[in-house]
Amino acid sequence: MKILEYTFEETTKYLNKEFGKGKFHAAGICREIFKKGNKNITKAKEFHDSKELASEIMRRISISPGIILKTEYEANTVKYITKLNDGLNVESVLVPMNSYTTLCISSQAGCRFGCIFCETGKNGFNRNLSTEEIIGQFYNAKFYLKKSSIKNIVFMGMGEPLDNTENVIKAVEIMSDQRCFNIARKNITISTIGIPDQLEKLGSNLNPVPNLAVSLNSAVNSTRSKIMPINKKYNLSDLRTALLSYPLRNSSVFFFEYVLMLGINDSYTEARKLVEFVKPFKARVNIIPYNNNSCADISSPSYDKVKEFSRWLVEKSIFVRMRTRKGSELMAACGQLGKNFEGNKSNS
Ligand code: SAH
Ligand code: SF4
Repeated sequence: MKILEYTFEETTKYLNKEFGKGKFHAAGICREIFKKGNKNITKAKEFHDSKELASEIMRRISISPGIILKTEYEANTVKYITKLNDGLNVESVLVPMNSYTTLCISSQAGCRFGCIFCETGKNGFNRNLSTEEIIGQFYNAKFYLKKSSIKNIVFMGMGEPLDNTENVIKAVEIMSDQRCFNIARKNITISTIGIPDQLEKLGSNLNPVPNLAVSLNSAVNSTRSKIMPINKKYNLSDLRTALLSYPLRNSSVFFFEYVLMLGINDSYTEARKLVEFVKPFKARVNIIPYNNNSCADISSPSYDKVKEFSRWLVEKSIFVRMRTRKGSELMAACGQLGKNFEGNKSNS
């Protein structure tokens, strides 16, 4: 029983089928394991009168989140590398905010979408992570790195979450269940290049939905196709249609991610097109200055350029935030995960 990928309902069903028990005991198991990181469930009050049952369940439970190989610190940002059971490595990043911590996790080992500015994309694709491996990054951060203040989870590490939708959906269910990890859906963000049928799947399987950060990076088809090959299959109009039917929570907004690259997507025309694309949505645009990595011939814009581009949007009443480069020295900033990495041999 790989408990890290069992939802509360699945644990209940399992107990019912195997032992004729139900929610009461499932609550005890989930509390000990997800909230306390304690595999020894015999001490849970629910098993007070049934120690043998607890021992039998314990024997069946397996917890394999992978082993933390390495942690690196820059200021307060922590990047850690997890070695999975088959030897592949994935990266996660802990970013401290004022009073809580945000955890950035990976959904795949590698990525097959090949965006030209992205380190992960450059290194190719290995495989999807299982739900246990996705949850495992959180479990390890909470109980081995002792980060008890994680309140936000962002799927912005390695991989494309909507290329592994089923496992991601299940991970979100387990993370957000009050009886398990209890991270509110509004504090979970899925960053995606926006694959229309998978957006539909996400929206129809999770109610309420988590936040969506859409890696837009250009609202001009020819530019976007050049930097993000997915745009040749699903263009901006397909993306717009899919987003318009995404069941956004009340009072929530779309986050549009825009990696600003010198001479590529930073012109006034690009800004005007971006305004046009974003206007029909309740939205915020996050401007992320391109982080230098070992990709192609791309340069970061100057700080003045980032400010100017942002101003063009603000003048048209678009909500904009300029993202800082927290963690960039460590190659831990978004889009840089996967560099300096000997462990993974891609097969694509
Ligand atoms: N596959 C998903 C999630 C992982 S990438 C996606 O693309 O959204 C997470 C974020 O990092 C994306 O918003 C992506 O645009 C950004 N990113 C990739 N490479 C980057 C770079 N070199 N500099 C800054 N941001 C980058
Ligand atoms: Fe994959 Fe996202 Fe990187 Fe594109 S930006 S290659 S989708 S991880």
